[in-house]
Amino acid sequence: MKLKLRPSDLKTLEAHALEAFPHECCGLLLGHFRGDEIEAVEVVKAENVKRSPVTFEAAPEFVYHQYRRAEERGLELVGIYHSHPNIAAFVSSHDFKIMELWPGVAWLILSVAKDRVLERKAYALKNGKIEELKLLSS
Ligand SMILES: [Zn+2]
Repeated sequence: MKLKLRPSDLKTLEAHALEAFPHECCGLLLGHFRGDEIEAVEVVKAENVKRSPVTFEAAPEFVYHQYRRAEERGLELVGIYHSHPNIAAFVSSHDFKIMELWPGVAWLILSVAKDRVLERKAYALKNGKIEELKLLSS
């Protein structure tokens, strides 16, 4: 499986992750599911209502509103992104719990330091297992 992102969208979410540092940032990716490829065509920044360096949560009404807005335009919620300040981009047990609510959706994690992005990784939960996605951006 692959996750395709526009270079400008990748820049937007990297900037978001650095801006939110030392807290985690979070947001949504809207686009299309195409076979083994998930294509994101829009990044929607969300506010991390937890304002925490180790967890994130977007307001449910915000997520619902964006979900509806995407649907109206023929797009789907294809991914969720967040940052890991000062730790690697692995799926934490907290991440896994949320992933279980969104099977098949791309889970993009950016590992960030104060002034740079260290690592970008994408995963998806398929049949109860975590699969790493190939991240394409060009
Ligand atoms: Zn996480």
